[in-house]
Amino acid sequence: MKLLEDRIREDGKVLAGNVLKVDNFLNHQVDPVLMDEMGKEFARLFKDAGVTKVVTVESSGIAPALMAALHLDVPMIFARKHKSLTLTDNLYTATVYSYTKQVNNDISIDKRFLNSDDKILIIDDFLANGQAVQGLLEIAKVADVDVAGIGIVIEKSFQKGREMIEETGIRVESLARIAAFEDGEVKFVPEA
Ligand code: 5GP
Repeated sequence: MKLLEDRIREDGKVLAGNVLKVDNFLNHQVDPVLMDEMGKEFARLFKDAGVTKVVTVESSGIAPALMAALHLDVPMIFARKHKSLTLTDNLYTATVYSYTKQVNNDISIDKRFLNSDDKILIIDDFLANGQAVQGLLEIAKVADVDVAGIGIVIEKSFQKGREMIEETGIRVESLARIAAFEDGEVKFVPEA
């Protein structure tokens, strides 16, 4: 998505550890017009996939997931992060290793919000090694819901996440795919 790639070129900062900082339009300050355009693009890509709910992880997935849900005309659920969970009876939970914070987080979704006739679209802000997506896939499996696809805002294609998802056979669509960081510059995978 050219609009997003241009914005990453303009405002993205490459940090140590292959981390791209995009906190002036996605991860802290949020650009609503860009979010809306991304939501439209996710909706266009997945409009025929039978999506009944969009699912993400708090907090940075919420903005793009909400806009995708708006344009698909379905609800959005965000998995909540907890340091430790004691009362898990009414929750689906999974443990996710955070790429940027380097800690394990338990993520959870209340059982009331996922039903076996749901078909979910998973959305996240970044795809690195695929841990966050993996956690949501685990929850989907236990909740017995189908996964219509996975939508990613920024994929770092040189890390393991895409390969992990492709092995599951689930469709993955990324709005921007980064091939490499070279001398602090972002190199994109050419759009097909
Ligand atoms: P994964 O679980 O795929 O290894 O990493 C994805 C999660 O880690 C995303 O939800 C995002 O919060 C965070 N993340 C991974 N790579 C980056 C990055 O380069 N920049 C930022 N800002 N967050 C990242």
